[in-house]
Amino acid sequence: MSKKKALDVLKTYWGYPGFRGLQEDIIAHLLSGHDTIGLLPTGGGKSICYQVPGLVLPGVTLVISPLVALMSDQQKGLEDRGIKSYHFKGSYTPRKLDEAFRNIRFGAYKFAFVAPERLNSELFQEYIKHADIGLIAIDEAHCISQWGFDFRPSYLNVHILRTLKPDVPVLALTASATPRVKKDLAEALLIPDAKVFEDSIRRNNLHLHIKFTPNKERQLFRLLSRLKGTGIIYAKTRRSCESLADLLKNNSHSADYYHAGLLPDEKEQRQKDWLSNDLRIIVSTTAFGMGIDKSDVNWVVHWDVPDTLEGYYQEVGRVGRGGQEASAYLLFHQQDVARLQKGITDLPNPMHALEFYNRFCSRFQIAVGTGEDTSYPFSIVAMANDFKMSVPVALSYIKLLQHRGYWQFQESSQIWPALEFTSKPLAWEKLERQDGEMLIQLLRLYPHAIHQPARIHLKKCAAMAMLTPEQFERRLSYFEEKGLLKYLPETSGSSITLMDPRPHKKHLHFPKSFLDSWLHSKVERAQAMLSLLKSEECIFIELSRYFGQDSNLQACGKCNRCLHDHYPDEHKVKQLLSKGDTIDDIWFDLNCSVDELRKFG
Ligand SMILES: [Zn+2]
Repeated sequence: MSKKKALDVLKTYWGYPGFRGLQEDIIAHLLSGHDTIGLLPTGGGKSICYQVPGLVLPGVTLVISPLVALMSDQQKGLEDRGIKSYHFKGSYTPRKLDEAFRNIRFGAYKFAFVAPERLNSELFQEYIKHADIGLIAIDEAHCISQWGFDFRPSYLNVHILRTLKPDVPVLALTASATPRVKKDLAEALLIPDAKVFEDSIRRNNLHLHIKFTPNKERQLFRLLSRLKGTGIIYAKTRRSCESLADLLKNNSHSADYYHAGLLPDEKEQRQKDWLSNDLRIIVSTTAFGMGIDKSDVNWVVHWDVPDTLEGYYQEVGRVGRGGQEASAYLLFHQQDVARLQKGITDLPNPMHALEFYNRFCSRFQIAVGTGEDTSYPFSIVAMANDFKMSVPVALSYIKLLQHRGYWQFQESSQIWPALEFTSKPLAWEKLERQDGEMLIQLLRLYPHAIHQPARIHLKKCAAMAMLTPEQFERRLSYFEEKGLLKYLPETSGSSITLMDPRPHKKHLHFPKSFLDSWLHSKVERAQAMLSLLKSEECIFIELSRYFGQDSNLQACGKCNRCLHDHYPDEHKVKQLLSKGDTIDDIWFDLNCSVDELRKFG
């Protein structure tokens, strides 16, 4: 009965004729009231697994998710289908909280999105206890495992839901996970009897290539001339995304970059252009692709080696979703190998990290017992200089402290340009006509800016004044000099948010068990990536083994390892050489090794 109901819901709200992959089994298991763990690859339709049963079951579905952006995306997706959902955002007074739960109860809300940190509040727990909840869904559930690549201390508290709501079924969702993380999930969430549904990580339409080349740039350009359709290039840093996109543009490729430092409307525009195929190549950090479901992505290139196999697998999973043949190229050279090795040997000293914490707090005058829930913007470069350390070292301390839950680091936080009028319109009459008109127009757009700084949209304002943003800013500086207004230009930098009050020195420490698991898992992950690069075995076999899918150890027959040519044709090689191809080109294209070419002289 409920099975039919689930299918009806899917048809009514999504318009799909049927479920895909494991969705149906997961949903049926949940609807029979049982705890469930679902491991589905990216693009495997994870959210359907809680959204459909959430609509079938009475009451509201509580969704726990670590990322605000992800929750907003899902909320919007539901809204577009006419389904009401509530997102707990920002701070709540007891009164506001009461109102929210009342709204959820009487306003026909079917979903409520909650960040894990909120579960620390006793008052919030009290409301949960008495709320009418039909299902608890935990998204990105791997964040609960200290062994995982994306451990978040705030997740350690999520098990409280089981205690608060012992009879409500729990669904834990994540992408492919290692055996240890899987075991952690059931234990840490207090759902020991949960049935695990796991999709095979094998994708038959995916051609994986992991290629060594001393000249990435040359091979990338050669690849791009052959690859068809839209694709993604993943690079590690924002700067390399920007410079690579520039390089491609200068060589007449339709390309642009995407990273967390872009303004929201720039992000939206680039995403839109890429989704509609007006933009062929997007060069991006890992920030891109989360929550994007584009079925006609044909290829992905890793310009830098990802830090983890989880990351690699997630990113190659963004291609070929429409079922078409698709390919993924990971390009690496000796420096990439050296960087990974360095990650194993150059581990941050925990004592120094604690020292860093104290210095940070002193610098921002955060007294012991204060500072919780407050964000502190800073420039990572300036701070590293000030503390006389390199940026990577400072970052490694910041990340270790984050791993322990002392704070949350945000790599880029944007402080928007703002404007405040310090004069009355009467004073503008003496100005040149053009200037006076520009100020009047601004005032019309931002009437609140007369008492306080108001955030402005720089590009829009500049366009209105028929100036470039730079010219417009110069105009504002001119007005500022005349004492007519105050202008606060945009700044961007990093920020740190303290999760708890600054602890006393004697309570600031890393337990040994924490350090052991942190260290061990860090080394383990780097080693797994190194061995993937060096291996000669089928890439899918390597991945299956890493994710504990040992029953799946058949060679794929499509990756560059499976297609390795041990006996390159001498005639062909000589032909290519005379055509002007380098040894690197030939070895790259023919899937053989240098040694195999060497015998031809
Ligand atoms: Zn293979």
